[in-house]
Amino acid sequence: MSDTAHNEIVLMREKAISELGLLDPGFDKTLDQVVDLACSLLDVPMGAFTVINKDRLFFKALRGTDTREMPAENSFSRLVVEADRPLEVTDASTDVRFKDNVEVCGPQHVRFYTGYPIHAANGVAIGALCVLDQEPRQFTPQQMEQFDGLRILVEETLRLRSQSLMDPLTGLYNRRYLKLSLPQEWQRASRQQLPLSILMIDVDHFKDFNDSYGHSAGDTCLLQISELMHGEIHRPTDILARFGGEEFMILLPETDFSGMELVAANILKSIRSAKIPHRKSSSGHLTVSIGGATIKPDALARVTPDGLLKAADRCLYGAKATGRNNAYFTRVDELAATTE
Ligand code: GH3
Ligand code: MG
Ligand code: MG
Repeated sequence: MSDTAHNEIVLMREKAISELGLLDPGFDKTLDQVVDLACSLLDVPMGAFTVINKDRLFFKALRGTDTREMPAENSFSRLVVEADRPLEVTDASTDVRFKDNVEVCGPQHVRFYTGYPIHAANGVAIGALCVLDQEPRQFTPQQMEQFDGLRILVEETLRLRSQSLMDPLTGLYNRRYLKLSLPQEWQRASRQQLPLSILMIDVDHFKDFNDSYGHSAGDTCLLQISELMHGEIHRPTDILARFGGEEFMILLPETDFSGMELVAANILKSIRSAKIPHRKSSSGHLTVSIGGATIKPDALARVTPDGLLKAADRCLYGAKATGRNNAYFTRVDELAATTE
């Protein structure tokens, strides 16, 4: 595999892990149950669902070991993920590939390992479902089949989680994802002392559009608008979500007031230039209104994420009240200071 192809896979893996929130504490308990089940069913003392991110190996669900995280180098799971195929090691003490592996040489004294790659919805292997033993052994074909069934269960759990965070019509993130991401981005902004901005975008007179062209044309139009907006979002950390109905939200980490203004201006321009016909709009074309709010790092401790959303919503209302097809903005640090 070329370096470029490999780097692309690494990036896709990181993206999938981050989108699923796999490294957040308290991830889906179902996975703990699958690992428990694997250990009981296959009669092994240790098992885990491991995730490889960058050069670290994380144990998300585990039984029989306290290790939570370690370097991915020389690990069994890394081999599974990189090769993207199952790995069975019947006796690691006689296998040159694992002579430096801490799980083999260290107190865990691992001898037997079997792991299956676990794929995210984007098809990339992100980790492994694995079972381990301190004795050399070998599974029967029937046991391998049972284990493979559990692998399917893990992938299905991840697929459902991923689905629950996406909007089916536009393929954008949904309100749930945005609501989960906002507090995390808030914390990151506080830690790194960075500004944070949010844009709320609402399609103008969209009820009239539906009444005039039909609901199905309305759906197609929402998809087109989401694609136009997507074209104006350039940083991988920006989060564009369908907040509900004909309302969208863009979370812009590390973005100050002028950056937010620029993104909003580009979106207005892109949608105006698309000239989507809307016979019930005064301009004859479809337009959007935007409300934006930004917060400086020193105000993050005084304001809540909900406060930022409300401020953006108030601006959106202002943009609607003054004729639509425009954008209003506010700095929440100033707002907090004047309203307190
Ligand atoms: P305003 O300019 O004040 O925003 O007017 P509006 O008509 O866009 O706002 P209103 O909130 O009155 O109506 C929103 C409409 O958006 C209602 C519904 O017809 C339409 N809508 C919401 N969700 C969907 C959807 O998933 N598909 C389609 N086709 N239409 C939707
Ligand atoms: Mg609207
Ligand atoms: Mg609306």
